[in-house]
Amino acid sequence: MGELIHPQKTIEILQKHRFHFQKKFGQNFLIDAHVMDKIISSSAITKDEFVLEIGPGIGTMTQFLCEYAGSVEAVEIDANLIPILKDTLRGYDNVTVINEDILKVDIGRLVREKNGGNPIKVVANLPYYITTPIIMGLFESHVPLESVTVMVQKEVAQRMKAEPGTKDYGALSLAVQYYAQPEIVANVPANCFMPRPKVGSAVIRLKCHQKPAVSVKDEKLMFALIRASFNQRRKTLINGLSHFQGICLSKDQIQECIERLGLPVQVRGETLTLAQFAALSDCIGSVSAKAD
Ligand code: SAM
Repeated sequence: MGELIHPQKTIEILQKHRFHFQKKFGQNFLIDAHVMDKIISSSAITKDEFVLEIGPGIGTMTQFLCEYAGSVEAVEIDANLIPILKDTLRGYDNVTVINEDILKVDIGRLVREKNGGNPIKVVANLPYYITTPIIMGLFESHVPLESVTVMVQKEVAQRMKAEPGTKDYGALSLAVQYYAQPEIVANVPANCFMPRPKVGSAVIRLKCHQKPAVSVKDEKLMFALIRASFNQRRKTLINGLSHFQGICLSKDQIQECIERLGLPVQVRGETLTLAQFAALSDCIGSVSAKAD
């Protein structure tokens, strides 16, 4: 099982099918058995579960997923990999490969059709050029999710996990932590891939909350305020928000909301917790409604 994880086997398959790597698709295939074990064990897949794999490549991880999961759906954009996947996955009858761009797949529909609308697990060695759109797309489209266990660029994993007041903390940290509890499972050096990426990598497991980590009246407004606060990272929160076109409040009204939260007027957005952003959003939302 899972022989492709050995570099020599990967090379054999690539040569057999005369495959050429396409940089534009972020193709760095995993060739380290220890890292694969970490991904599989931390995703804790069981035989009654449905797993979505994004970007199966030549099927290295897919083979493991087929062994451990009830069924696997693998979405691969590169048409040249489809005949290879037919070859490497021919021993499994619990996998379907779709030749599609994951950003164009209606995952909600897939989950309804293939898993009766029940929460799924996503496991992937992601193409790094679209990590954030893939993860935010999964969360924002409210696909029922149990967990998302993915290989990403190390810096991106650190940003997802970052705490208020640290240099990595930003809109991505807050968005991810609103929907899930992140845990970095492994740091992965470049020599674990073929070809080697120029950046370090990490496996992160996002254990999805059944309901968001904080309750907020207007999710869209909160995330707009978060983006506005971090767009102007060095500015104080009040200055960042008073230049933000998305709310029609005066500087005094914004100050009133900041003070109502018990925060100093000169506070910077990068120190606010998710709960404080939610409270700020509710306050700004209600003051705006009264002003209308
Ligand atoms: N899972 C394989 C492994 O671990 O060896 C390959 C991982 S490689 C980092 C990323 C894979 O995602 C490649 O096979 C690439 O062709 C595929 N990919 C890139 N963009 C994609 C997209 N928009 N939709 C689906 N697959 C994509």
